[in-house]
Amino acid sequence: MIHIMNPESENLKGCLITMEKLEQLYEGKAKKVFATADPDLVIVSYKDDATALDGKKRGTIVGKGVINNKMSNFMMQKLEKVGVPTHFVEQLSDRETVVKKVSIVPLEVIIRNIAAGSFSKRYGVEEGTDLKISTIEFSYKNDDLHDPLINDYHAIALGLATPEEIEQIKEYAFKVNDMMKEYLLGLGIILVDFKLEFGKTSDGTLVLADEISPDTCRFWDVKTHAHLDKDLFRRDLGGAEEAYQEVMRRLMGE
Ligand code: UDP
Repeated sequence: MIHIMNPESENLKGCLITMEKLEQLYEGKAKKVFATADPDLVIVSYKDDATALDGKKRGTIVGKGVINNKMSNFMMQKLEKVGVPTHFVEQLSDRETVVKKVSIVPLEVIIRNIAAGSFSKRYGVEEGTDLKISTIEFSYKNDDLHDPLINDYHAIALGLATPEEIEQIKEYAFKVNDMMKEYLLGLGIILVDFKLEFGKTSDGTLVLADEISPDTCRFWDVKTHAHLDKDLFRRDLGGAEEAYQEVMRRLMGE
C-alpha cells in the first residue's frame, strides 16, 4: 500500500490518497493496468517488453519501463501547463503511475514533422525529408485488422469518435507537437514523428492518455541523426538500451 501526500499535484488538489493495486484489469504489450479502490483511477505498470512489426518481433529493452514511465509523466506534466489535459495523476515508483481511468478512443493519432517509417514507404519519400507542414493521420486501433490507416470521415462514420472529438484531438495533438518539438530541440533532439492516444474519463472529458516515450516517438540526434528510439530495436540496429538512457539523461539529467 502506498500513501501519497503531494500538495504540488494539480490533479489531486493536495489531498491524501491511499493507493493500492487491486486486480489486474489488462496486460498489453508494454504495460499492465491495475484497478484501485477509486473507480476513476487505475495504476499503470511499465514493462521492459518490446514488440514491433505488428507483434511479430518480440524482445526486451532492459530498463525501458522505468524510462518510459518517467519520461511520459515528465512530458504530460509539461503538457498540462500548456493546456493539454492528460490522464496523469501521480507517479508511485520507477515503473508505476496512477492515471485517470479512461475509455480509449480507438484511434492512433500520428503527427509527423519529417518523413520516416511507414510514411516514407507509402509515398516513396526518402527518410529524413523535411515535410512542408506538420501532418496528422489516424490509424484505427484494431489488432485483427492490423491498425489500418483511416480518415476522419471514416472514423466518425464508424462511430469511433464524434466530429467534436476529432477537432479537439487535432488541436491537442498539434499543441503537443509544438511544445515537444521546441523543448526537445533545446536538448539536441529532433522530433521526427510520434503517436498519441486519447481517452475519455467517466465524465466524458477528452484527455491525452497512453504514453509519450522513445517507444512511441522517433527521436534523432540533431548533429548525427542517430536514432534515439525504438527504431534501434525494430530495425535490429543495436544500442537501444543506451539510446533510451541517453534520452533520459538529456531530459531529466538521470
Ligand atoms: N507508432 C507507435 N505505435 C504503432 C505505430 C507507430 O507508437 O503501433 C509511432 C512510431 O514510434 C513513430 C510514429 O508512430 O514514432 C509513426 O510510425 P509509422 O507510421 O512510421 O510506423 P512504423 O514505421 O513504426 O511501422
